[in-house]
Amino acid sequence: MDVKQFIRTIPDYPKEGIFFRDITTLLGDAEGFRSAVDALVQLHKGAKFDKVAGIEAHGFILGGAVAHQLGLGFVPVRKKGKLPWTTIGQEYDLEYGTDTVEIHSDAISAGDRILLIDDLIATGGTAEAAVKLFARAGGNVLAASFVIELSELGGRQRLEALDIEVLSLCAYE
Ligand code: 5GP
Repeated sequence: MDVKQFIRTIPDYPKEGIFFRDITTLLGDAEGFRSAVDALVQLHKGAKFDKVAGIEAHGFILGGAVAHQLGLGFVPVRKKGKLPWTTIGQEYDLEYGTDTVEIHSDAISAGDRILLIDDLIATGGTAEAAVKLFARAGGNVLAASFVIELSELGGRQRLEALDIEVLSLCAYE
């Protein structure tokens, strides 16, 4: 499947000089959405996970569908302040300032093997924060999968340095 045919590129969003890769066009297309989810599942054929985790917000849509296909529970990695129970949080750096991702403190069990899903990896800062969060909760992210990888921003190397398998369906420079 050529996943790029379903992805729309929007120049100068959210600011000048950025080419934003818009996956709403992929999600909105029956064939595009199904093929992307099938391909994400296929990447991990044979691997054994206990949970699928998705990063807010597009990671929920893709990760939820992947979890359903794998017959596994799903853990939402949310932006700060959205979860109602006891949480643990991990701060990470943005270009300007910081942000925090959170999970419920009881979202996983000790030793759980986790597959992390998001729509896109750029610098890898968001995914790395999620990985650290699960480690602190006693779990282990074994693999991280994305529809899109921005290959010049170093996200893959950042996660691979933590011993995580990184897979993506397509790459842009
Ligand atoms: P990173 O932390 O790897 O630098 O940035 C990845 C996060 O930012 C992901 O959660 C992703 O959804 C969002 N993101 C950054 N750039 C883009 C983009 O061009 N398109 C989309 N769809 N998301 C982006």
